[in-house]
Amino acid sequence: MSVLSRRLFLERTLGSAALAAASGAGSSLLAAPSHAREAAHITSTSLGPNLSLITGAGCNIVALGAPEGALLVDGGLAQHSSALLKEVKRTLNTSRVKVLFNTHWHPEQTGLNERAGKMGATLIAHENTKLWLSRPIRTSWLPKPYGPLPEKARPSKTTYTTDSISYGGEEIEYGYMIQAHTDGDIYVHFKNANVLVAGGVVSGDGWPRLDYETGGWMGGLVAGYDRLLKVADANTRVVPADGPILSRGDLEAHRKMYFTLYERLVALLNKGLGPDEVIAAAPAKGLADQWGNPDAFVESAFRSLWGHFAPDA
Ligand SMILES: [Zn+2]
Repeated sequence: MSVLSRRLFLERTLGSAALAAASGAGSSLLAAPSHAREAAHITSTSLGPNLSLITGAGCNIVALGAPEGALLVDGGLAQHSSALLKEVKRTLNTSRVKVLFNTHWHPEQTGLNERAGKMGATLIAHENTKLWLSRPIRTSWLPKPYGPLPEKARPSKTTYTTDSISYGGEEIEYGYMIQAHTDGDIYVHFKNANVLVAGGVVSGDGWPRLDYETGGWMGGLVAGYDRLLKVADANTRVVPADGPILSRGDLEAHRKMYFTLYERLVALLNKGLGPDEVIAAAPAKGLADQWGNPDAFVESAFRSLWGHFAPDA
């Protein structure tokens, strides 16, 4: 879950006006309907010939144009589908989606699945993502269950490990990061352009929430970074789920930071502390202060340890 998910959750729960009041801003911008506000901000940046990064539809989306149609990595929120397809048409001269990757099951990534599936697109994801999308998903952070998506909106081609396809002159390799942000995360690497779409494992501009309720966990998040660091080289442009493009050096810094936090959380678990005590101990202090309040991440990361460790006796 991203910052956007939390905002979406708050908006659905409180309503936009209440959210504006709660945030203390009270500006007309914040009080505007979320779809109007966000749809107006859909923009794209060129990553190379026929390759674009599209932002503002709910998550970072990478789109590759080809004569037969577009290939997209992630599809944004469902309410932004029309605006997104308009932007794809504007930048890549096609509004037909032929291939759509889901880096994981979250609503920000899978909102275009139904439209794309009806167009006859091939939907590619990890097998676990398909399994989640085939049933109602209940989590503590979504106001109501998500899914099951209609049959046509579910991934039609799945992987358990790594796989590759050729499309639009690109060699595209994708692979699994075991139990990281969820239990179905994949990265997608455009090898010729050397663009690595990292999905939910990497957040570029704030603390993500570790979705331990659908199989994510802190140790797996660190292992996910190890996997990405094997794929990335010094020239790779890394596209996180949200926020600006990152470098391999940024991935190394994130990995180090998350591993430090992981070690601190394991130490607190071994002391027998509960989630409230762990938050009070401020284990993320000094690690990524520019990302704001880490409490939600710390709590989910700590809870994620429970399925993997028993405290030392
Ligand atoms: Zn996510």
